[in-house]
Amino acid sequence: MNWEIEKELEEIRDAGLFREVRALESPQGAAVRRGGLELVNFSSNDYLGLAASRELEDALKEGVERFGAGAGASRLVCGSLTPHEELEAEIAAFKRSEAALSFSSGYAVALGVIPALVGKDDVIILDKLCHASLVDAARLSGATVRVFPHNHLDKLERLLRGARDDGAVGRVLVITESIFSMDGDAAALRDIVELKDRCGAWLLLDEAHAIGLMGPNGRGLAAQLGLEGRVELQMGTLSKAVGLGGGYLAASRQVISLLVNKARSFIYSTAPPPAVAFAACESLRLIQGTAGDALRHALRRNIDCWQSATGTSSAGAIFPVIVGDESSAVALSRRLLDEGFLVPAIRYPTVARGSARLRVTLSASHELVQIEALAMRLRQAMAELS
Ligand SMILES: *Cc1c(COP(=O)(O)O)cnc(C)c1O
Repeated sequence: MNWEIEKELEEIRDAGLFREVRALESPQGAAVRRGGLELVNFSSNDYLGLAASRELEDALKEGVERFGAGAGASRLVCGSLTPHEELEAEIAAFKRSEAALSFSSGYAVALGVIPALVGKDDVIILDKLCHASLVDAARLSGATVRVFPHNHLDKLERLLRGARDDGAVGRVLVITESIFSMDGDAAALRDIVELKDRCGAWLLLDEAHAIGLMGPNGRGLAAQLGLEGRVELQMGTLSKAVGLGGGYLAASRQVISLLVNKARSFIYSTAPPPAVAFAACESLRLIQGTAGDALRHALRRNIDCWQSATGTSSAGAIFPVIVGDESSAVALSRRLLDEGFLVPAIRYPTVARGSARLRVTLSASHELVQIEALAMRLRQAMAELS
């Protein structure tokens, strides 16, 4: 058994795809300590710098004082603690939806929601670059899965028409993301909404990398484009800009009620600690207020700085630096690590083979000098590599 596994590990190593977990010795932030080294951190999705903020720390403490540590059971078994109810009301207001349901992670949202809403008589049409959670959930649902090349509207339209012509009697669900997690660009959302409406399909939009940073009051890309009312299923995570952990789906009352009855990752999983829900509610209020505006302003300044220093652009705060070869991407990342910068190499299977890259993410808590320094070192390291 172990011998066989060792062989499999060897193959992963030989392909330059080996991964391991490394301990972080400090809280999350623009500067972190790892392996005894002080590093400037360009690897997290803590876009607003809230993960280690005093505000959320205080909110968590208050949540623990008022509601204790653990939730004890699934929300359907023991009763649902008030912070979860309040969080869901806050999310629904934030997303301008009738209702919302929270989950223990964004991954659990996808796995619970998609199989609850579509099954073997239905068709899912998904963007090729969709996150693993969406792909896994689509497969798990048993629906027929069709994939369109990233943002390829003609192909999407053909698949939408094809789903109807194939005599699909059931539902047709289009799935895409606001900001793509490894490419940093945005969905062609306006066109996708037009197309799915014309063909009578539904849309699930994963706003994982847009919530908190895009749109009015950080309400996301759909809100920015005035399309919230036309996206049936608005998904997001509380683990990135919101700074905590968990995920949500905002939708109609009927959809949410069906999910309470059918979403297995909701039903068969203990509710997240109530203090986390309490703090997430605080975080959403902060994000929508003047403090959130100030953080978005700082992030915007940092994005502008990176864009002008590198001549690149991005719809959000994710900047891929495409390298191609897996081993070269790892070498480049290691090089930057030696210089004190934490910038992860992203490889297959997270991205396609031969499209390995560095993934630079910016946060409101970075200093301009840190950003300029990385841009300069990256340019030098890339020149040395080639
Ligand atoms: C991170 C991410 C998720 C998963 O969210 P978690 O809360 O981390 O489980 C889902 N979708 C996308 C696009 C993501 O980037």
